[in-house]
Amino acid sequence: MNIQVTEDPIVYFNKQFVPLSEARVNVLTHALNYGTAVFEGIRGYWNAEQDELFLLRPVEHYDRWKGNCGIIRIGVGAPSAKLAEITAELIRKNHFTTDVYVRPLAYKSAERIGIAPDDQDAFTIVVIPFGSYIDSTRGLQAGVTSWRRIQDNAIPARGKISGAYVNSVLASDEVRRNGYDEAIFLNESGHVSEGASCNLFMVRKGRLITPSVTENVLEGVTRAAIMELARRELKLEVVERPIDRSELYVADEVFFTGTAVEVAPIIGVDRRPVGSGQPGPVTSELRRLYQDATRGRMPSYRSWLTPVYHPAALDRVA
Ligand code: PMP
Repeated sequence: MNIQVTEDPIVYFNKQFVPLSEARVNVLTHALNYGTAVFEGIRGYWNAEQDELFLLRPVEHYDRWKGNCGIIRIGVGAPSAKLAEITAELIRKNHFTTDVYVRPLAYKSAERIGIAPDDQDAFTIVVIPFGSYIDSTRGLQAGVTSWRRIQDNAIPARGKISGAYVNSVLASDEVRRNGYDEAIFLNESGHVSEGASCNLFMVRKGRLITPSVTENVLEGVTRAAIMELARRELKLEVVERPIDRSELYVADEVFFTGTAVEVAPIIGVDRRPVGSGQPGPVTSELRRLYQDATRGRMPSYRSWLTPVYHPAALDRVA
């Protein structure tokens, strides 16, 4: 599902708060021609009972963003805490009282022809109202794509680099045309890597297993959150190791995680049912825990949340 921006929200562009319709770049911009941008995706959850909007782990996302910008030498400058504050200010200026999605984008901004990068960098932050990205209650049919995941020594998958997402677009387009909901990538060594815009987990014999960070995956913030919830709340053994394609066919449960998809059960892989062909118990439980933690209903996870409208009320999150 794609989310359209229908209104003209206030966005952060060239160090100013301006309407989205005024945040425009020249067609010769380096990033537009060569894909030299790094983006992020952050969620904010509206809690009606507390009259509050909680940003989910914004400093962690901005830390990752700045680290990834360093891979292609884009300088952002501002500290992560300042970027989180700009984001909260954007939400307040737009008076959002719904779930939101935050899209920071840092890019090579020189307006000329030629790939050699220079030090002209810029960044923008856009916040839009955003509900469920996919209907994750029913479960997804996933297909292994014939495209291979990009290799770290070609374009690093951990980098969230705009140009690298051509890889995801090709995979997603292929499997959707073949009747699946989402793609699963193998990497060049033939192991399972991740989805087009999400990480992958499987449950086998009571253990939660996910490809390690050297398998050409994005180091997902949701991935880390799910591993923490699984260990702390469900006392599950969590293992990071290579996964074979055929293990997905014999797994008890398989699911995707990501900021947009949250926890999304996969009920079929390559037209083979996963487990019972219904969302499994571990997936459903992790999904519920993730929803409770991210909506401020679990006091022990309140450090994940940054309140936007009543910043001093952090201690009341529960
Ligand atoms: N893998 C890819 C390729 C992604 O684009 C995303 C979305 N950022 C993820 C995994 C999930 O990462 P996160 O949980 O940090 O959103």
